[in-house]
Amino acid sequence: MKKIWNIITLVIFLCSIFTVIGSAQESIVNNYPEVEPLINFVGEDYLSVLHLLGAKASIIAMNELGFEKNNRNVLALTDAGYMAEIGEYTTEKALDGVISTTGNSQGKGNLINVHKPYNAKLWFAFFDKESGDCIYLEANGEVLKTYLNRERTDVGALADFMELADNEIFTRIAKENIGADQLLSNPEPWQEKMNAKVFGGNEFSMITLCNIWAEGLSNDFLKVAELHDHICPGLTSGYLIAEYVKKELPSPNPRNEYTIISIPPWCKDDAFIQIFETNVGHKRLFVKWLTTEQKKKLPEEAKNVANIFIREDKKTGTGEGIVVAFDWDKAYQLCGNVSRKDLKAFDTHRWWYMRLKMDLFMMDYLDQPEELITTLKEFTMDLEEVDRLKSAGVNPLVELGIMEDDVKAEIETEEVSADPGVIYALVLIILLLVAVGYYMKKK
Ligand SMILES: [Zn+2]
Repeated sequence: MKKIWNIITLVIFLCSIFTVIGSAQESIVNNYPEVEPLINFVGEDYLSVLHLLGAKASIIAMNELGFEKNNRNVLALTDAGYMAEIGEYTTEKALDGVISTTGNSQGKGNLINVHKPYNAKLWFAFFDKESGDCIYLEANGEVLKTYLNRERTDVGALADFMELADNEIFTRIAKENIGADQLLSNPEPWQEKMNAKVFGGNEFSMITLCNIWAEGLSNDFLKVAELHDHICPGLTSGYLIAEYVKKELPSPNPRNEYTIISIPPWCKDDAFIQIFETNVGHKRLFVKWLTTEQKKKLPEEAKNVANIFIREDKKTGTGEGIVVAFDWDKAYQLCGNVSRKDLKAFDTHRWWYMRLKMDLFMMDYLDQPEELITTLKEFTMDLEEVDRLKSAGVNPLVELGIMEDDVKAEIETEEVSADPGVIYALVLIILLLVAVGYYMKKK
């Protein structure tokens, strides 16, 4: 009898242990039903603190901006899963936390995964295009690292992480209205917020990405913007040049076929990398700087020179090319109330005001790039000559006859302006020789 009781006691004891373990593992779902979509998406066995972080950021945003899952008027932005790291941990799991909780995705066109370097802060932002409200959340890297270390060996780390207060998980939670109408009609208050870095230094990225997205950002432009981190008139000029080249120098097989020489480089060149796959590493993009002196030597019609595009044909061994320029003066004039001077007016609101205004204005030219872009020259050459254009120490604009040879011009100037002292000395020596000769002859 005693033996039976012992067995019954042991069974009860074991059952209670399993119940405790079971309830510990399920506690997150039970206590936090809001993370259920996340768990359905990633599977509970694979759940990490980083998933929960993305979900937490999303839940705070949904409460603060007042939106439900699958709201197409809301844009989600984050650098999670690009290069941002927390110590030794990569951050892509946080991206899944956002996607599963808000329903925002690349396929829906309402998720921008911004490119940042490996040591950038990990952040999330959500923008409602109806209200213009944007909420920005920056993760606390130190706290995250502690929990990521813990979760390797301790399942309880996840439940404990869920217990943390929002301001323990995030070092910054800021909500601002950044609708373009609001910012452009009353720029001063936003200028103060820019100076105060309300979005942790990402203010310019936020105001341009969110407002251009609200205008309708195509997927290819979105990918261009992801690489570039923000949308500026320079980047948009690159998108427009790409559209222009697709029309003017169409390529039946784009892969590895265009060679681009960027002279001089600006934000535009990031657009080509995404659209044409003309990566530097693929040896399809060559970048050459023009000094202030060299720029001065550009003739008036080539002042806005941007790129040389060459369509290579390996079969015939030739390349067909165009040199294109972007008419900034016309763009400023058509946009109105902006000028070249504003570009560097960093001590006032003018620098971001003109960029945002131009960004919005240039969206109207996406399907008529020829209004702002011109072909300076068309040419055909052997691929060996193309190699020469790309090579170090060669100014392709001189080779193509767009500008004067700057080195030659300098030598010529030097010859003309030879030291007058040397000339006087030479004349003196000749006169002296003549005088001596005359004297000797007379003698
Ligand atoms: Zn830019």
